[in-house]
Amino acid sequence: MTQRTLSIIKPDATQRNLQGAILKMIQDAGLKIVAMKMITLTRNQAEGFYAVHKERPFFDSLTQFMCSGPVVVSVLEGENAITRYREVMGATNPANADEGTIRKAFALDIEKNSVHGSDAPDTAATEIAYFFNQLEITG
Ligand code: ADP
Ligand code: MG
Repeated sequence: MTQRTLSIIKPDATQRNLQGAILKMIQDAGLKIVAMKMITLTRNQAEGFYAVHKERPFFDSLTQFMCSGPVVVSVLEGENAITRYREVMGATNPANADEGTIRKAFALDIEKNSVHGSDAPDTAATEIAYFFNQLEITG
């Protein structure tokens, strides 16, 4: 089943000039980039994106971090793209991430973990629509 998922390269990674290295890992995994832009989120936009986490103790710190520098937001397409990109990303906590994953290679800690990826078809659809309209998605 061909799916689309939302990817974000987070500020800890753009600050270290890792956009290219991370996009290479994504493309080497066979995921196709069908939309992409680099933006700096406002606090409101970061809070809106992570609204599902607003009761979590890390919400304030997370949303502050997410607007601390530019992010690269992209839509990835491929066979089972949601699960496959989660596999390429690795575990949320880099201490638990497998060798060869983006988070194992680049994440600094459980918060500054370099990348976001949608976790299910419904959240992927909502997250893609949060950042891109139909005209901005190729193919
Ligand atoms: P994932 O990004 O792997 O889907 P979650 O959806 O659980 O992880 O959390 C969203 C983001 O919140 C994480 O990617 C990470 O940046 C941050 N986060 C998660 N858990 C913690 C934590 N215990 N402490 C600080 N930040 C966290
Ligand atoms: Mg998540």
